[in-house]
Amino acid sequence: MALKKRIVVVGGGVAGSTIAKNFDLEADVTLIDPKDYFEVPYAALRCTVEPTFAERSCVKHSEYLKKAKLVQSSAQSVSDSAVVTVSGDKIPYDFLVVCTGSTYTGGPATKAERIKEYQADNKKLEAADSVLIIGGGPVGVELAGEIVVDFPTKKVTLVHSGDRLIDFLGPKASKKALKWLKSKNVEVILNDRIEVDGLAGPIYTTNKGRTIKADAHFVCIGKRVGSSWLRDSELSSLLDDQGHLKVDANLRVEGKTNIFACGDIVNTVEIKQGFLAGKQAGVVTENIKKLSKDPKVSKLAVYTPLKAPFGLVSLGRASGVAQLPFATITGCLPGMVKSKDLFVGQARKGLGLAA
Ligand SMILES: Cc1cc2nc3c(=O)[nH]c(=O)nc-3n(C[C@H](O)[C@H](O)[C@H](O)COP(=O)(O)OP(=O)(O)OC[C@H]3O[C@@H](n4cnc5c(N)ncnc54)[C@H](O)[C@@H]3O)c2cc1C
Repeated sequence: MALKKRIVVVGGGVAGSTIAKNFDLEADVTLIDPKDYFEVPYAALRCTVEPTFAERSCVKHSEYLKKAKLVQSSAQSVSDSAVVTVSGDKIPYDFLVVCTGSTYTGGPATKAERIKEYQADNKKLEAADSVLIIGGGPVGVELAGEIVVDFPTKKVTLVHSGDRLIDFLGPKASKKALKWLKSKNVEVILNDRIEVDGLAGPIYTTNKGRTIKADAHFVCIGKRVGSSWLRDSELSSLLDDQGHLKVDANLRVEGKTNIFACGDIVNTVEIKQGFLAGKQAGVVTENIKKLSKDPKVSKLAVYTPLKAPFGLVSLGRASGVAQLPFATITGCLPGMVKSKDLFVGQARKGLGLAA
């Protein structure tokens, strides 16, 4: 099929890279991303303990896109016909797909710089006998898991402001993660926080006055929806209270005929997950193809949000916690599914590359 449509994809993460790849040879695709690479977000913590892992988990956009144009900049605003970037480009579109996800996938502009960043973090880690992790969401818990497995002699303390870890999953998953971390001698402090502004060690004081000595710290908080750039744009009235973009069942932005969104940015009621971002990218691809053929097409593909909460958190290289629809399990089974390769091979294959 030869589509001549101009498809602009904003954000080259899990969803955006998939959509750009899907249309690469068929349409006039422009991918806007501040980075020259796609990064498998789930692998970031492994890269901290093993920086060479990033050679596979960070993939330059030019490695999997043959014809699409990359505008390496952040999108700044959008109108009903074009996207304007921080670098001053104005890029017209027939179809727009907004996939700016969540802010934790920020990072330096180039793959080479990203790898250097991991090498620096790894040096910091290797030199430290004791480590403080601030934040007990998936990033903090997965980082703690990586450290205690690869560096079992280091003293790890994790401070979390909530009353349970990985609270995007249910209480059973939180309990199992806590039990596992404690079994590896991680000191977990709940219901307390450390202010991160001007943070400096080696003595850290929590808001409740507890002191922690650590040679190095890692800040694992601050996940936000990546929609702040839309606040002054055509789409600002379509952001909900949390900053999610309102979409209809076909993943079109509410009231728009040619603007889609998918991934963490959309307001679908479900846990925000990469595998769902991938599924949504499939629906958006199908719908853009249909509309390109026939703008008046009566039936578009529908996205059905996941009903039962499902999630996987890795705990080092061989273990994990999985919340499944029928049970919450821990141990080597979730480890086999996620922790060994952190879905890097799968993501690479999805982009048409060797695992
Ligand atoms: C530690 C951790 C473990 C996880 N484990 C899993 C798991 O096991 N399974 C799972 O399914 N999910 C997992 N997730 C969740 C998953 O990573 C996200 O759901 C997924 O990345 C969302 O994809 P996305 O395409 O919406 O956004 P992202 O992958 O966040 O990509 C957003 C992209 O937008 C770009 N961007 C941002 N702002 C702009 C702008 N203004 N202009 C242009 N580009 C912009 C960014 O550079 C980035 O490339 C995990 C997340 C974390 C942090």
